[in-house]
Amino acid sequence: MKLYSTNNKSLKISFKEAVFNSFPTDKGLYMPVKIPQISEEFLQNITKCSLQEIALEAASSLIGEDIPKQDLKNIVEDAINFEVPLVSLYDQLGVLELFHGPSLAFKDFGARFMSRIMSYLSNSKDKTLDILVATSGDTGGAVALGFLGVKGTRVTILYPKGKVSEIQKQQLTTNGQNIRALEVEGTFDDCQAMVKEAFNDAELNSRFRLTSANSINIARLIPQTFYYIYAYAQAKRNNKNNIVFVVPSGNFGNIGAGLLAYKMGLPVKHFIAATNVNDTVPQYLKKGLYTPKPSIQTLSNAMDVGNPSNWVRIMDLFDNNIENIRKTISAYSYTDEDTLIGINELYEKYKYIACPHTAVAYLAAKNHFNPLNYTIFLSTAHPCKFIDVYPKNLKDKIEIPEQVKQLEKKKSLAHSLKNNFSDFKDFLLSN
Ligand SMILES: *Cc1c(COP(=O)(O)O)cnc(C)c1O
Repeated sequence: MKLYSTNNKSLKISFKEAVFNSFPTDKGLYMPVKIPQISEEFLQNITKCSLQEIALEAASSLIGEDIPKQDLKNIVEDAINFEVPLVSLYDQLGVLELFHGPSLAFKDFGARFMSRIMSYLSNSKDKTLDILVATSGDTGGAVALGFLGVKGTRVTILYPKGKVSEIQKQQLTTNGQNIRALEVEGTFDDCQAMVKEAFNDAELNSRFRLTSANSINIARLIPQTFYYIYAYAQAKRNNKNNIVFVVPSGNFGNIGAGLLAYKMGLPVKHFIAATNVNDTVPQYLKKGLYTPKPSIQTLSNAMDVGNPSNWVRIMDLFDNNIENIRKTISAYSYTDEDTLIGINELYEKYKYIACPHTAVAYLAAKNHFNPLNYTIFLSTAHPCKFIDVYPKNLKDKIEIPEQVKQLEKKKSLAHSLKNNFSDFKDFLLSN
């Protein structure tokens, strides 16, 4: 697999370089030079394929000879080891549940696959790969659990004290092994600033092999194509046609992967991006002007992004042509008030309890409804991660998954850290 930068199409770098550097120095994002096509034969037989078979096919056609197929098979089977059911709400509407992995959110796909790719591409004689991450909650849990026990890697996570939920904190702090959690007396921005400074510190760079687990890493995008293709297979099994995907979107990585699958030839009729009031993309599609804004806090907080970093990838896939984009993608935005209505309606009509992000997607699915289509909205997290959002009658009905019950028994192993780079540096050097 060779990659160029969205800011420099003549660049051609290796898959390994893109994995370890996350993004090019020209501040663009990496994109595949060649988008492989899913074969007609594979599509004909897709209803018989398992998620792992589909994942291997997609990964090997994208990554190509950089990783031999048997090795890639082992990586895929180890990383994608949980279910992705397409739950039918009624004849023309289904919900794709992406939250059955260890951190109960779709970010498990990216984090688990990337961790194993990084471990594989590191030479065993190389120093331990030190991954530094700042998190405001969800990404950190997926990264911690994604790298847990992965050979040749060590993760250091910084999170703001008092600003992550109880379940998120347990996911970040109870792991031990190769995962270290630092509770910072500061904000998420402070955590991020410290991590950034560490990447620019000469002494730390000479002592350690530092890398980020950045959400825009190409190794996180690839595994997110798997479940679009698998959803298509499940829909086909039920003789559904004219498939429309509705994707709750923040940084637009998830929908970006769906659009990559589409460009690989997956027969999808339309994509819908559903956002909260952070509506930069819906406004762009409406008015033709891309105006990034500061983010606004909402109930669907994993989508509180005012300047979605993956949007340039989508622009690139459609030759930076807004008319092309509008043919394939629509976008709608919803307030917190709408979100609560969506949550209640899903329960009243279908006895389905959705997380707030998923509820936003449900609203967009309804908005764009067409009885000739089969509409699939993506469920990105388990509702128990956002328990404070629900009215009492629903709160009591949310089942707590086994993973969470196990975590509750474990002890927090977080270290406290002042909001001070030199303390962070001392911690890294002395541990
Ligand atoms: C990250 C996240 C999103 C947004 O996904 P993007 O790829 O950033 O668009 C939606 N829902 C949940 C639960 C998330 O954690």
